[in-house]
Amino acid sequence: MKYYSLNRKAPSTTFEDAVVRGLAPDKGLYFPESITPLPDSFFETIEHKSNTEIAFEAIKQFVGDEIHEKELKQIIEETLSFEFPIIEFDTSISTLELFHGPTMAFKDVGARFMARCLGYFNKNNSRNITVLVATSGDTGGAVANGFLGVKGVDVVILYPSGKVSDIQEKQLTTLGQNITALEVNGVFDDCQDMVKLAFVDSELISHMQLTSANSINIARWLPQLFYFMFAYKQLKNKYKKIVFSVPSGNFGNICAGMVAQKLGLPIQHFIASNNANNVVTNYLKTKDYNPKASVQTISNAMDVGNPSNFIRIEALYSNNFDNLKNNLSSYSFTDNETRDALSEIYSAYNYIADPHGAVGYLGALRHLENKPNDHVVFLETAHPTKFLDVVEDVIKTKVELPEQIKSVINKKKSSITITDYKDLKRFLLARNNT
Ligand SMILES: *Cc1c(COP(=O)(O)O)cnc(C)c1O
Repeated sequence: MKYYSLNRKAPSTTFEDAVVRGLAPDKGLYFPESITPLPDSFFETIEHKSNTEIAFEAIKQFVGDEIHEKELKQIIEETLSFEFPIIEFDTSISTLELFHGPTMAFKDVGARFMARCLGYFNKNNSRNITVLVATSGDTGGAVANGFLGVKGVDVVILYPSGKVSDIQEKQLTTLGQNITALEVNGVFDDCQDMVKLAFVDSELISHMQLTSANSINIARWLPQLFYFMFAYKQLKNKYKKIVFSVPSGNFGNICAGMVAQKLGLPIQHFIASNNANNVVTNYLKTKDYNPKASVQTISNAMDVGNPSNFIRIEALYSNNFDNLKNNLSSYSFTDNETRDALSEIYSAYNYIADPHGAVGYLGALRHLENKPNDHVVFLETAHPTKFLDVVEDVIKTKVELPEQIKSVINKKKSSITITDYKDLKRFLLARNNT
């Protein structure tokens, strides 16, 4: 499979090169040159396949022969070593729990897959690769965990000081080894901007091989398409019209779902559920795409003012606004509505959601107002204990901490504070000279 840059000013390249580069030399995101639908028989018999088999068939064309089949299967098996259960609330609503991985957010799958691909490609390389990543909360932990101990790869994580939850901070600042956390005096967009600057800084690039583990990296982004297949596998014999409500920030997850649909997965419709960061909600209303500064909310992993993957969504729909609008709706909800939803989900279904899932639930309800016969799956993108303060405060109940969280909560935080791009550059150059 070849990948082209969405800016169209850089040459097409291989899977390996796209993964190692992260971003194309012209700053464009990489996008597959073609997406070939899987045969109908794949979906007709999907419930008889294991998750590993499904994932292998689905990702095969995107990797091509660049990773040996046996090794690709091994990578997938290790990546998917936990459950992806559907919990049915009633005949209209289910949730797909994507938080059973080591850092309890859906980003574990992409991070683990990417780490293993990079490890595979770099195993005979004497030069270390530096993974540079900005996080609004969950990416940092998932990437730190996924890449911990991977030979030949150093990881540098930028996170906005005071704007991630305590548990999220612990997950990304306590691992040590090849993982370094940079605590930025600023918001997520500042972190993301600095990372983008680093990728086009020719002095820096001449000193080191930099790549990104944000969802701009195809190896982080594409494996997320598995989720939609795992949900379909569990629900296909019960419901005809399956809709996904995806709590969205950088729009990587929902965009991967749209790739699954292109592969032939029968998905009726997508809902991008947003918090107050509502660039896309507004776009679908006004046809005007107006990125703005992000605002802080209780669903912090979605506090994104300029969603980096939206350009991929436009590409999937050949930049045709009407086609996109037929397949995607977007709604935006306030923190108060989100709190009320957490409380309602708890009282009506005895289920403890996290603030991101709650936004997804609200999107599902909104859709059902007009389409009561659809079945909406909202994605539970993180475990509620990652947002303990908000959740316990709303449901007035102590939530039991799972093992994955207990194991980091008493570890000692280690981070380096930085303020601007100059600090970041100094840090990276100093480290690569030693
Ligand atoms: C990252 C994240 C999101 C947003 O996902 P995107 O792919 O960036 O749209 C939603 N919920 C949680 C818990 C996350 O960590």
